[in-house]
Amino acid sequence: MGFRYTEYLDGQVYRCKKCGQHLTTHDDLMSKSFKGAMGTAYLFKKVVNIQEHEVVEKEMTTGKHLVCDITCGECTTTLGWKYIKAFEKQEKYKEDKYILEKYFMTAPRLSQQRFV
Ligand SMILES: [Zn+2]
Repeated sequence: MGFRYTEYLDGQVYRCKKCGQHLTTHDDLMSKSFKGAMGTAYLFKKVVNIQEHEVVEKEMTTGKHLVCDITCGECTTTLGWKYIKAFEKQEKYKEDKYILEKYFMTAPRLSQQRFV
């Protein structure tokens, strides 16, 4: 499998549901109000241990974007996509950010959550 560098994250870590690979943390979460092919999707500032694929142009409800699919660097599950470029001014904040579909992730157990 070559010399792949695996990054391990600290804190509240979102992991690949299939293989458990570390992907990102709660600190990098920007928004939970996105939609992916499998339903709810989250926007993250930074995601590690993934592979980026070919950049394609996509017409979305929020305008034209250049995006690329992202897959898990370990098990190659398609996790979501990365925004490379947004053509609408108000969508620029998404550039270089990542969408991960909730369905493909294991969410961290948030320490502040209490069940009584
Ligand atoms: Zn995986």
